[in-house]
Amino acid sequence: MQEILAAIQAGASGAEIGALPIPESYRAATVRKDEVGMFEGIPSGDKDPNKSIHVEEVATPELAPDEAYVAVMASAINFNTVWTSIFEPLPTFMFLERLGKESSWGARHNLPYHVVGSDGSGVVLKVGSAVRNWKPGDKVTIHCNHVDDQDPSAHDDSMQAANQRIWGFETNFGGLADLTVVKANQLMPKPAHLTWEEAACNALCNSTSYRMLVSKNGAAMKQGDSVLIWGATGGLGGYAVQYVLNGGGIPVGVVSSADKVDLLHELGCDAVIDRKAAGYQFWKDEHTQDEGEWRRLGKDIRGLIGEDPGIVFEHPGRQTMGASVFVCARGGTVVTCAATSGYMIEYDNRHLWMKLKSIKSSHFANYREAWDANRLIANGMIQPILSKVFPLEQVGEATLTVHKNLHEGKMGVLCLAPSEGLGIDNPEFREKVGEDKITLFRRHA
Ligand code: NAP
Repeated sequence: MQEILAAIQAGASGAEIGALPIPESYRAATVRKDEVGMFEGIPSGDKDPNKSIHVEEVATPELAPDEAYVAVMASAINFNTVWTSIFEPLPTFMFLERLGKESSWGARHNLPYHVVGSDGSGVVLKVGSAVRNWKPGDKVTIHCNHVDDQDPSAHDDSMQAANQRIWGFETNFGGLADLTVVKANQLMPKPAHLTWEEAACNALCNSTSYRMLVSKNGAAMKQGDSVLIWGATGGLGGYAVQYVLNGGGIPVGVVSSADKVDLLHELGCDAVIDRKAAGYQFWKDEHTQDEGEWRRLGKDIRGLIGEDPGIVFEHPGRQTMGASVFVCARGGTVVTCAATSGYMIEYDNRHLWMKLKSIKSSHFANYREAWDANRLIANGMIQPILSKVFPLEQVGEATLTVHKNLHEGKMGVLCLAPSEGLGIDNPEFREKVGEDKITLFRRHA
């Protein structure tokens, strides 16, 4: 890999990069099948990804005709790597076993180790014989929608494909590594004004927030819509706030510290609720929710923007869903993509049907949506929300930081890139967009 890195750093041509040999093994962050029981009896919050994630040398898989090898310069932590590393709610080896039964190419994924990671930026090293739009030397970011495009069900909205998977979570050979194998239809051009780590942190969360809010497959937000955003400085929320502001909407951000309140104000979000300071207790006990507390949140939102939110951007799940359905405006939409605090959800259905509200489910993004979201990063209209950068050796610590909710925005990980700040090809455009805007989360951390 060092020869490849030297060529990339020396600005080698695509032909030169294409002529380099693909190494037989590479460095990768893995979890191991024989360790899935290691946290038995330990509460979720105490499970430490430092113990389950290993950085080790793994064999390079064979390349399928519709795939590309990419030298990964940088990657990022997503919450799905937290789930994989604590083996909850299921060990991800179950996904790999299922994929292994699908085809001979799928069988490559069923291994005793799982290379994790669902984001990345880097350089294409080699493409399979069926790849037409990409070539060695192309600088790319990678989105995580892994779809078999020979399946008819993948040809309306590919997120509806029967065998849709998330790369590096439900497939092997993920992005937290020096090399990855991806389908050609996961590739997107790297925004030229960003560093490798700034370019690597966006695709998963930015595309998810785009689909949830902007796409017709999500809440299809319009000008003037008010949007309640849980975790508004988190991975999803940091992009969601930007989409609402860009689209002429009114964001109400919910966060859990005074620091995060300041960050949201700097981002341009005026209406902010500090949920920790407010001390909401939506659940009286494990079985009973408190409508009075839902009402208090609703009153706080009205106090800030004078109305109920037409859209609620939901992902904490069990802890907040009852409140989200309650505070959503008559005829409004709760759009949900996750359940960090628990997936067995409870809400009062009377508030949903009597006020004609909808709950809309959303999951990552199809290629078109991911491409459009990447384009908005590339043209400087959406900013990366990178706040901290770790070397690959410290991927366990980076994952623990997200698990413990000690972060803002995205945690970047340097893979092949030897240091931060490399990879900017268009400094003039960077200056035009504004260093302050691009590095807001980084400076704040
Ligand atoms: P993140 O960076 O950890 O941010 C989530 C934020 O939510 C936290 O920073 C926290 O903010 C807030 N939060 C956490 N628990 C909460 C609770 N009990 N009540 C209220 N707020 C709470 O994670 P993320 O990347 O945004 O992802 C969030 C969830 O979405 C994860 O479960 C992830 O797996 C899922 N996800 C799903 C998709 C998909 O395609 N379906 C894509 C991306 C992520 P404060 O403490 O500041 O309030």
